[in-house]
Amino acid sequence: MNGELLRVSGLVKRFPVRGGFFSRVSNWVKAVSGVSFAVGAGETLGLVGESGCGKTTVARMVARLVQPDAGEIAFEQTDIAPLKGNGLRPFRRKIQMIFQDPYSSLNPRMRVGEIIAEPLVIHGEVTSASKRGRVGALLQEVGLSPSVYDRYPHEFSGGQRQRIGIARAIALRPKLIVADEPVSALDVSVSAQIVNLLQDLQKQYGMSYLFISHDLKMVNYLSRRVAVMYLGKIVETGPREAMAKPLHPYTQALIAAVPVPDPKTKRAKIILSGEIPSPINPPPGCSFHTRCPFAEAKCKVDEPELKEWRTGQWASCHFVEKINGL
Ligand code: SF4
Repeated sequence: MNGELLRVSGLVKRFPVRGGFFSRVSNWVKAVSGVSFAVGAGETLGLVGESGCGKTTVARMVARLVQPDAGEIAFEQTDIAPLKGNGLRPFRRKIQMIFQDPYSSLNPRMRVGEIIAEPLVIHGEVTSASKRGRVGALLQEVGLSPSVYDRYPHEFSGGQRQRIGIARAIALRPKLIVADEPVSALDVSVSAQIVNLLQDLQKQYGMSYLFISHDLKMVNYLSRRVAVMYLGKIVETGPREAMAKPLHPYTQALIAAVPVPDPKTKRAKIILSGEIPSPINPPPGCSFHTRCPFAEAKCKVDEPELKEWRTGQWASCHFVEKINGL
């Protein structure tokens, strides 16, 4: 890894479930339960998992849109998890977010130029005289014409709106961009263009990306390292090349679900059956045991540790050696 930019340690987040006449807390959604990872300078870490695994909550905690219940978010060696208000302000400009839905993430009542200029204005980076020129340059960087400054978001396609979201995110030249499913709402051809744009911007400015997706193929394409989440925990992590030979049965199932263009190519099939269990009542022991084809009695009782099995490749499973013939 290049010099470390971000280190997340033991991140935890629970959300209350309220019910009844007095809206009392009746239960807790255990969205994130002890997640740790690091992102190097200029590196992309892909965080992948099914819907409901907690990856968006991790993204929002790193971007400090959600307050963690426990754990550290060390950005440039400062723990920003407990910071608030003015203490957080210098970091806000260094960490920006690109959202999943380009339709709802832009204020429909604001002109595109004002949307992009907003962070620059908040951080005192532009004057009213310099604003239009600065925003025009940003629009060009993301492949849009400066002439769209006075138009409204509804006048643009999904791909163009995501470009506007990206222009806003890079306006302050952040060091880290947290991209939460940035292309999942777009057509395949449009999403390829957005991915290429993100790669070009990274080459140009050396930003780091925390790239969140349910699409393992996309994550593998974009990321230097990959972390796989299941029910609020990381179950496997490693360099992209190593993840082509995953060790954890859940990662193996995700890979088996990716279509292969050549029908002659054989791949071990692990069928992932059933839904991800509710994070209100996660299963005891290994939380994947209700869907794992290799589960044994021990899996229902003992939670496996995340251990390094190959250089840089970590997995949490009691039977890694048996399943993978190590
Ligand atoms: Fe499957 Fe058991 Fe490994 Fe969990 S610990 S992944 S249930 S074999």
